[in-house]
Amino acid sequence: MNIARAELGAVKLEELRFDNRYGRLPPAFYSRLSPTPLPNPYLVAFNPAAADLIGLDREEAERAEFAEIFCGNRLLPGFDPLAAVYAGHQFGVFVPQLGDGRAILLGEATGALGRWDLQLKGAGKTPYSRMGDGRAVLRSSIREYLASEAMHALGIPTTRALAIVGSDQAVIRESIESAAVLTRMAPSHVRFGSFELFSSRRQHEHVRTLADYVIDQHCPQLRDARDPCLELLREVIGRTAKLVAQWQAVGFCHGVMNTDNMSILGLTIDYGPYGFMEGFDRGHICNHSDDGGRYAYNMQPRIAHWNLYCLAQALLPLIDAEEAESALGEYEEQFEQHYSAFMRAKFGLATEQAGDVALLQDTLKLLHDSRADYTTFFRRLGNFDSAAGADNAPLRDLFVDRDAFAAWAEGYRARLALEASTDNERRPRMDRANPKYVLRNYLAETAIRKAVDERDYSEIARLMRLLAYPYDEQPTMQAYAAPAPQWASALAVSCSS
Ligand code: AMP
Ligand code: MG
Repeated sequence: MNIARAELGAVKLEELRFDNRYGRLPPAFYSRLSPTPLPNPYLVAFNPAAADLIGLDREEAERAEFAEIFCGNRLLPGFDPLAAVYAGHQFGVFVPQLGDGRAILLGEATGALGRWDLQLKGAGKTPYSRMGDGRAVLRSSIREYLASEAMHALGIPTTRALAIVGSDQAVIRESIESAAVLTRMAPSHVRFGSFELFSSRRQHEHVRTLADYVIDQHCPQLRDARDPCLELLREVIGRTAKLVAQWQAVGFCHGVMNTDNMSILGLTIDYGPYGFMEGFDRGHICNHSDDGGRYAYNMQPRIAHWNLYCLAQALLPLIDAEEAESALGEYEEQFEQHYSAFMRAKFGLATEQAGDVALLQDTLKLLHDSRADYTTFFRRLGNFDSAAGADNAPLRDLFVDRDAFAAWAEGYRARLALEASTDNERRPRMDRANPKYVLRNYLAETAIRKAVDERDYSEIARLMRLLAYPYDEQPTMQAYAAPAPQWASALAVSCSS
């Protein structure tokens, strides 16, 4: 037994324990099926931190069987593979039936750190594939792998990623790409759309079964409430309000906030054409296919609220409409409270003062007018020298309009003077609220190009190490904090994945 196994109580692949409680729900909830074999699979990326969550010995990734298992070619004892069915509002239009069109749930790995759904994304066609081929391409698998782990390190609830397995199998998108399978992990993959499916079919008993399932397995504290289903709605509203507040604060744009991409546990799920804000644009649209800007950055809080209405509507067979309406009425205030708390931390403010909303708005206007880099601005704000005011050169240099900056700097200095903080005391606090490193599009693109063109996966691993500590200075990695170089300015990301 090696040291890792001894320390973590970590086990071999064959010793993992599996359950699949979702598979014990009625057959209407899923289709049982096997993954489609993937020719000549090879390991592209492995995330030891995710392996720890299920108590898997990190060294197991070095076995040839690992790639065979995590592309779906070989099933472990206890796997119970299935594709879940759901519905959803896509770009505002209700689609009566969607489902895991290329994702296959293998089961829940149960270890010392809880139960984790293991899901293979890109494992082949399912009854819900519609016109799709059931595959995912290496490019989008790398994007999801990096983003989900970057979000986790930023403290934002998200699905996790265990590994990427590649293959030379060709997949046709806008051009010919190669296939890959991403192993995704989450306490649950249930979506708002899972409820919408049964509700729209008037299968109210299934709506109840699903609500009971989510409460029992994931929110057991709600079991004894007067009205557990109403409390479940409140819980989802609260978690979603906080999640979107975190997205806004860090500058994360999801890109496809359809109700089938909204997690019932308030996790960030289904990474597609997402983007981290670079030059600040409050109407930033990260998804090239989103012509109307429905899912633009500044729309996200409202869209989440709209999506929660869809969820509440789906729960109406179980809950009182007026009580649901009143629960939904609390969303905006909850969002505002979370958002202002996160933003106060970013500004280094320890107290709440009357002018804080105006300061926030002025700051965002200043950033927007100069398209100043959002992450760089807040990171540098931590070094604000209150004696220097408008002469804070590293900050000032981010703005085109120097007079506007000078006026803003004076306002910020005056606001800081309203509380008893000092520059030295504030700095470390602000560094823990303002990441130095986020997954800029060009960083992901560089890792993707190396992987796709040269079969060199070292940049993926390097980014994973970097983004695991987004708040640390990491002196040798400074270049990764820089805004996009010229070649990357025209990068476009669409839904195709
Ligand atoms: P997404 O926008 O990636 O969340 O996908 C929306 C729906 O399309 C989901 O039901 C997916 O399972 C399905 N889907 C996306 N890509 C494919 C594909 N290549 N093959 C089959 N189904 C897919
Ligand atoms: Mg989806």
